[in-house]
Amino acid sequence: MRIMILGAPGAGKGTQAIRISEKFEIPHISTGDIFRYNIKNNTELGIKAKEYIEKGLLVPDDLTIDIVKDRLNNSDCQNGFLLDGFPRTLNQAEALEDVLSSMKIFLDVVLNINIDDDIVIKRLSGRRVCPNCNKGYHIDYMPPKVSDICDGCNTKIIQRKDDSEETVLERLKTYHNQTKPLKEYYMKKV
Ligand code: ADP
Ligand code: ZN
Repeated sequence: MRIMILGAPGAGKGTQAIRISEKFEIPHISTGDIFRYNIKNNTELGIKAKEYIEKGLLVPDDLTIDIVKDRLNNSDCQNGFLLDGFPRTLNQAEALEDVLSSMKIFLDVVLNINIDDDIVIKRLSGRRVCPNCNKGYHIDYMPPKVSDICDGCNTKIIQRKDDSEETVLERLKTYHNQTKPLKEYYMKKV
């Protein structure tokens, strides 16, 4: 199964992506996770990406597309994969199309999650994450059993820097301007 999930920040792409990838036993490819991993490890990519992510802007296409291209060529993607957070621009969507056609494969499903902006703001500003095992929480809707402590690994949970209110508003703007048109793009392909 080859699946793509589209939707605004905070729509729940990541949460659904984990469930779906487990169910179909396919790798979960999240460009956001890849960037965060690189930021944590201070790689060259991480240092570049951080600048954009913390402002709520998209990481430039030339950095993003190559990562996904490499990842899709990995042997674990042979029987399927789930793309979460990629593509985010028309340019990325077109690049993906080239990659897939050169691999002679097609997407089976494009899933779009609709969500209103006011809900996004509530969700993201209350969102917390475990910096150790990456498990997600929400201070009101999905709090850990012990306040501020990850249920799974006892680490203190944190707020992602880009979940601050100011950055959330910027990410929403970015979504509406650059990513939302992809819904239309894929609808036309059906
Ligand atoms: P969310 O969907 O909640 O915004 P992600 O983890 O998918 O979170 O992405 C976090 C940030 O990483 C984005 O705000 C953006 O700056 C960057 N990013 C992730 N995927 C892409 C992409 N395909 N193109 C450009 N930037 C990206
Ligand atoms: Zn944890």
